[in-house]
Amino acid sequence: MTSMIVVDDERSFANFVVKVAQSVNIDATISDCATDFLTATKRDWPTIVVVDLQMPDGDGIELLREMAERHCTSKIVIASGMDGRVLDSACRLGVEFGLAMAGQLAKPIRVAELKNLLTSLIPSAAAVTVASLDAALNADNLFMLYQPQIDLETNRIMGVEALVRWRMPDGQIIPPDSFIPIAEESGLIDRLTSFVVETAFRQASAWRRRGLDLQLAVNLSAVNMQDRTLPDRLAAQCAAAELSPNGITLELTETASTRDHAILLEVLGRLRLKGFRLSIDDFGTGYSSVAQLLRLPFTELKIDKSFVVGMDLARESAVVTKTLIDMAHNLGLSTVAEGVEAAGVMRSLCEWSCQTAQGYLFSKPVDAAIIERIAAKPRVHQSDES
Ligand code: C2E
Ligand code: CA
Ligand code: CA
Repeated sequence: MTSMIVVDDERSFANFVVKVAQSVNIDATISDCATDFLTATKRDWPTIVVVDLQMPDGDGIELLREMAERHCTSKIVIASGMDGRVLDSACRLGVEFGLAMAGQLAKPIRVAELKNLLTSLIPSAAAVTVASLDAALNADNLFMLYQPQIDLETNRIMGVEALVRWRMPDGQIIPPDSFIPIAEESGLIDRLTSFVVETAFRQASAWRRRGLDLQLAVNLSAVNMQDRTLPDRLAAQCAAAELSPNGITLELTETASTRDHAILLEVLGRLRLKGFRLSIDDFGTGYSSVAQLLRLPFTELKIDKSFVVGMDLARESAVVTKTLIDMAHNLGLSTVAEGVEAAGVMRSLCEWSCQTAQGYLFSKPVDAAIIERIAAKPRVHQSDES
C-alpha cells in the first residue's frame, strides 16, 4: 500500500489531507513537527511526504535540506499559505537538492485538486521501464486523448491538443510525465513521436471528412528537434493524411540549453517554411526566454498553466499572464492560455484579448468521439454557469 506522512502543525489542514489520501487508499499519518518526522522516517521513507513550509520548530526549507542529506527517496509535495512565488522557489530548491519534488499545494486547497495529485503519485504495480515502454510501443498500448482549445471570441471549439497516454497490462493509465523522460533518455522518443503524429493526423483527417475542421496541436520533444529529417517526415505524414500543414500546430518546450542550437534553428525554420505553426509551450517556466521568442520562428505563445490556474486568487499570476499576453501580441504571436479552470479566469482572459483557452473549465483531455459532441455545442461554456 502507498504510504504518506503529512508534516504540518496545523491539525485541521493535516486531517483534511489525510482524509482525502485515505479516500484514494493511501495509508496516511501526521507528524506535527520536523523532529517527529525525522524520527519516524529513520528506517524507511514513505512513498509520499506532504510538507508545510511553515512550522514551529524550524522551517520547511531547512527540513528539505535535511531530507536531502539523508537521501530521502519519497515524492515530496509542499504546501503553504504563502504566495505562489514562495512555493515555486522552494520547489526549485528541492530539485537543486536532488529531491523528488512532486507538486505544490497553495492553501486553501480544493479537494479535487488534492485527489488528482495524490492519485498521480501512487506507483503503478506494473513498472515503467525502457523495456516495458518498448513493449508497449510494439503492442499498441499507447493511445491518444484530445483536449479542446476554445476560441474565446465565439466560445466554440477551434482545435484540440493531442496528449498521449499509456495503458498498462493491469489497466492503469500512466500519464505522459511518467514516461516521456524515459523515452527521451532511451531514444524511444522517435518511435513514440511517430506514433503520436500518425495517430493524431489520422484522427484529424477523419474529423475533416465528417466536416469537422479543427486545428491540431501536437507536442514534440526537444530531442525530436535535433533530427534534421523531421521536417520532411512530418510534411510527408501530413500529405499522406491529406491535411494542410497550416492546420497543424507543433508545440515545443525548450528543455535543455546545451543542445545544438544550429540544428534547432534549421529544423524550426524548415518546419515553418513548410507551413506548420509553431507554438512555444510552457512559456515562462524552465529555459524558455524572451530572447528565444525573438530568435525563433514561433507563431504562438502558450501561457503555462502554473500562471493561469490560480490567476483568480493570486495577483502575481494575473499580472504575469496579462504581461505575457500583451508581449505576445506586440510580437505578432497568437496566445493560448492553458489550465483555465474557473469562469473568472476565462473572463479576465477575454478582457485581455487572449485568443484561445484550454482547461478543465471546458473539458479534460477526452476520447476523439467526445470531441465531436463538444463541437456540436453552440457554446462550450455557458458564462452564466457560475
Ligand atoms: P503540456 O503540453 O503542458 O500539456 C498540458 C497538460 O495540462 C496536460 O497534462 C493536460 O491534461 C493538463 N491540463 C489541461 N487543462 C488543465 C487544467 O485546467 N488544469 C490543470 N491542472 N491541468 C490541465 P498531460 O496530458 O498529463 O500532459 C503532461 C505533459 O506531457 C504535457 O504538458 C506535455 O509536455 C507532455 N506530453 C503529453 N503528450 C505528449 C506527446 O504526445 N509527446 C510529447 N513529447 N510530450 C507529450
Ligand atoms: Ca503542450
Ligand atoms: Ca504547458
